[in-house]
Amino acid sequence: MPTLPLPPGSTIGILGGGQLGRMLSQAASRLGFDVLILDPEENCPAARVSRGQFVAAYDDPSALSIMGRACDVVTFEFENVPSASIEQLAEGGALVAPGPTALAVAQDRIDEKTFLNAVGAATVDFVAVDTLDDLIAGLQTLGAPALLKTRRDGYDGKGQAWVASVDEAAEAFAAIGGRPAILEARAAFTRELSIIAARGHDGAVAVYPLGENRHASGVLATTLAPADVSAATTARAHEIAEAILDGLDYVGVMGIELFDLPGQDGEPGELLVNEIAPRVHNTGHWTQDGCVCDQFEQHIRAIAGWPLGPTAAHARVEMTNLLGDAVDHWPTIAAEPDARLHLYGKLEARPGRKMAHVNRVSRL
Ligand code: AMP
Repeated sequence: MPTLPLPPGSTIGILGGGQLGRMLSQAASRLGFDVLILDPEENCPAARVSRGQFVAAYDDPSALSIMGRACDVVTFEFENVPSASIEQLAEGGALVAPGPTALAVAQDRIDEKTFLNAVGAATVDFVAVDTLDDLIAGLQTLGAPALLKTRRDGYDGKGQAWVASVDEAAEAFAAIGGRPAILEARAAFTRELSIIAARGHDGAVAVYPLGENRHASGVLATTLAPADVSAATTARAHEIAEAILDGLDYVGVMGIELFDLPGQDGEPGELLVNEIAPRVHNTGHWTQDGCVCDQFEQHIRAIAGWPLGPTAAHARVEMTNLLGDAVDHWPTIAAEPDARLHLYGKLEARPGRKMAHVNRVSRL
């Protein structure tokens, strides 16, 4: 294990070479680190701003073994990295952050919600679904409509189906491929919020102001931050974030998606956790132009054992994702005076693919 803090000149490994890996790599290089990417796609977005790339599958034992020896710390940019790969790296003596437990919990929606409830973070009611009979029984317990989601491998609204009644059960179960699933009660939220939080090797925690998120077709469209929330809501979100990070003995940045339930008698409503992402998060991109230390630098600081950076907002930001062809508007956006454009260097604009985002900045 390396001695912390890692000095500039150390090498950071990142599993995954998409836009999150790219922005992590850029933040790391500004702090004087070298970055090596592991991604099966040659010339991936992150590799083009890094020192080098292992072009290999995420479970390639020899690539992982070489990477573990070449890097002082290894991290990841997406939660569907095989947990066996993280275990192999850790068993080989590499420092891996976040660790295997956080990854395993975030990969399974039942384990995730069970963990969240155990640390006092409320979620919607849910039941595990392995068979059509489980689904029908679950609909009777939770009521309809309810949301059926695959237990594993879901993201951006994929692998999900609303079930309006027992009559739709078979169709919905088929729509998610009949795979092991979770049935979730519908959250009657007024809005979706998220909180980006970081924890260091020493247990220090830092949280950013909340963001308010709008989705379109299950994919994040915009984040407005800092969100217009009461002090009580902010305090509750901080409490939730700390309980989750401490409960996982977490190291790094995490994105926590929240449902804001309606309040009563002027009191703020309860916050439910929808899901946790053990990595930098799309709803934290606003920090690049709203905070002195953004989520990418914060993650690098955390995993390298540096002091966590400041998280206060110095500006209001509206972050908008540019999906697919929307990136073609870059010349117009680049001409806007208060817009900061972040392009991911992806070579092909497939429909719905995250190509870039723009942070429109205004005074707080
Ligand atoms: P997820 O993949 O879990 O992040 O879900 C994608 C989106 O679906 C969320 O951002 C919500 O807008 C919606 N959603 C997910 N779970 C629920 C739920 N239990 N009740 C209502 N809406 C949900």
